[in-house]
Amino acid sequence: MTEKPPSLPLTTPDGEVLSYACGLCRSVRIGAESMGPPDAEERAELAEYRRSDADRCCTCRECGVVALGISMECDACGVKRRARLEAEQPARAARAAEEESVREAARAKALDRDAAVLLAMRMCRWRSGWR
Ligand SMILES: [Zn+2]
Ligand SMILES: [Zn+2]
Repeated sequence: MTEKPPSLPLTTPDGEVLSYACGLCRSVRIGAESMGPPDAEERAELAEYRRSDADRCCTCRECGVVALGISMECDACGVKRRARLEAEQPARAARAAEEESVREAARAKALDRDAAVLLAMRMCRWRSGWR
């Protein structure tokens, strides 16, 4: 497996690190913004956040393989994920249909119950002579 070179600090002329670039493709990952001008502490936090972002660049989040230009997952993992999704599709559809029939049964039961309650009320009124 390729080792990814460390992320590159981007520093001001007086040596403060503001962000990092990916060590492999050298793109600068911003990832987070401050609200208004950041103070020294916020700048340090943002730089840390951006470093973790730069560290993840060109790295597959699934298998950890390092290759130039990976943004989320490598091609192999992308193919695997899509195949998995496709394989799960019929099972998901069956599950959804089952859930729907359970809901349908619950609705039917509720309608029966409402009708029964209504009937019971009418009969009660009828017996006590109300109209
Ligand atoms: Zn990169
Ligand atoms: Zn992968």
